[in-house]
Amino acid sequence: MAGIYVHVPFCSRFCTYCNFYSVKGAGYREQYIQSLESEMEFRKEFFKNKGVSPHTIYFGGGTPSLLPAEVLGRLLHRIISTFNASPEEISIEVNPNDITQEYAESLRKAGFNRVSMGVQSFVDEHLLWMNRRHKAAEGEEAFHNLRAAGFNNISLDLIFGYQGLTDELWQYNLETITSLLPEHISAYQMSIEPGSALGKMYERGEYDLVPDEICKNQYAALQDYLGRSGYAQYEISSFARRNPEGELLKSRHNSSYWTKEPYLGLGPAAHSYDGKTRFWNHPSVAKYCRCYPGKSGIISPENLAKAGGYEELQGRDIFNESVMLGLRTVEGVDTSLLDAGMLREAMSEIRRHIRLGNLIQDGVKIRIPSERLFVSDGIIRDLFV
Ligand code: SF4
Repeated sequence: MAGIYVHVPFCSRFCTYCNFYSVKGAGYREQYIQSLESEMEFRKEFFKNKGVSPHTIYFGGGTPSLLPAEVLGRLLHRIISTFNASPEEISIEVNPNDITQEYAESLRKAGFNRVSMGVQSFVDEHLLWMNRRHKAAEGEEAFHNLRAAGFNNISLDLIFGYQGLTDELWQYNLETITSLLPEHISAYQMSIEPGSALGKMYERGEYDLVPDEICKNQYAALQDYLGRSGYAQYEISSFARRNPEGELLKSRHNSSYWTKEPYLGLGPAAHSYDGKTRFWNHPSVAKYCRCYPGKSGIISPENLAKAGGYEELQGRDIFNESVMLGLRTVEGVDTSLLDAGMLREAMSEIRRHIRLGNLIQDGVKIRIPSERLFVSDGIIRDLFV
């Protein structure tokens, strides 16, 4: 299912652990919106050339909910008409603080039908340490506002594996999140990203890595508790409930990344993929706005080259990426779709990991069993050619 991603690179403050590209302050917002419209126009043949049409649209960030709902709605409708899209899933990432009842209703009216909200924790002390804007009660209130506005597909994010998160508090977070009954839960292990505030604290010796054994136990508790609460795991970090028709309410947009469908990324730092080539906009709103100067401006090849880059994927990149993305999912990777020569090269490692119980072979598919997903990075790396 082909998709479109829009990067909204604004945050009102930076979270301790985050190194995503975003800027503070409202300085570039007006220009950014015009530039996005100009980039859409420039890329309008992207899907036509591939004979597909986009079925998912995802506004991510940054913090898309810092923009007025009318602006987001206008951009959304511009995307739909420019790319002749018939989207089944239109998602937006939001910050709990922005979700008043009125704003939630405006998002629904603007056309969004799925919301992904970073609650991260239900412990105020931890939210403060993460430099999140919201308190635990505000996360819950925002969720209820979304429900009252008619959103019936809500995803909530949690983080585990950081200093101060005891097993008891993790269990509390799991119980609280499931009591809200979101359709989807994403849970990520805290990682130390270069350039983030946490990365700097780590370099200064002010933060220690959490022992692997603790993270592993918290991940196992996550799988176990969500499993018992009616959520099925379908990817390393992703869990979903079923709708009354029995359909698993996965993120269709993210699922397209894992199955390597074409996607177009708009906005600074956004990446695109067309099956052979990956291209991207550099993480700079200033360069982006210079490159796409809005209605009246002309896109010069020189500015275009400065605003982004591209790479042609080689056979080995395609093989390794297919293995990596496929094995992140519970369904695994279909080896019949891989290059036969490279598969032969990887076969001794595949067999070794099957013997170790790290891989399960099911016909032409191989997958990592759920109890080994926590160590999937190492397994996947061993299969690279
Ligand atoms: S986690 Fe989200 S809200 Fe926090 S700094 Fe990163 S992009 Fe902004």
